[in-house]
Amino acid sequence: MLYFMYMDERKLCPSCGSDKIEHFMQNETISGDLSKNLSIDIFYDKCMECDFKGDISGENDKVIEKALSTLNEAYIDEVLKYFEERKINFAGIERAVGLPQRTLTKWKSRNSSPTAAGIALLKYLRTFPWLIEVAEHKFDYNIAQKIFVGEALDIFVKSTDFNDYNGYEKRLKNDKLIPQPSLHHS
Ligand SMILES: [Zn+2]
Repeated sequence: MLYFMYMDERKLCPSCGSDKIEHFMQNETISGDLSKNLSIDIFYDKCMECDFKGDISGENDKVIEKALSTLNEAYIDEVLKYFEERKINFAGIERAVGLPQRTLTKWKSRNSSPTAAGIALLKYLRTFPWLIEVAEHKFDYNIAQKIFVGEALDIFVKSTDFNDYNGYEKRLKNDKLIPQPSLHHS
C-alpha cells in the first residue's frame, strides 16, 4: 500500500533538478529467517516533472538497518528461549562449540551483540539442536553420523505416526501388522 505523505520542497530531483517532489510511504514486509516477518515503512520520493522515483535523502538505509537489527534480536531471543525451555544449559553449549564463557548470557541481556557469524551459528543450533551433541563429541565423524541418523529416524517415525495415524491403523488391520514401531532409538 502506497501512501502520499507530503510535498517536499526541501528536496531537489537528482535527475532534473525540480523541487516538485512528492514524498510517499509504503508498508513492506521483510521475510526473515526462522519464519519471522517484520513490517516496515519504506519511503519514496517521486518527481512530478520527470519520471524519477527513489529515496533522495537515503532514509531507507537507516530504516532497513534498524529492521535487520530488530530481526537479529528476535532470532537471539527465540533461540536462547528455545534452549532455556529445554533446559539446555548455556555453559554446556559454550563449551561444546568453543564460545567464550557467558557469551550467550551477554547476548541474551544485550550486553554484547553477536556478529553475523554468531547469529548464523544460533540459527543452525536452533534448527538442528543435535549439532550441540555433535560438538560435545568433538565433531567425531562417526559419532556425528550416528547422532544425525538417530535424530532423522526419530523425526521420521514420529511424523509418520502423527500424519497417518488412521492409515496406520488400517494397515494394521489389513496386513495384520501387530508389532508397534519403536519410538525410541539408542
Ligand atoms: Zn525530476
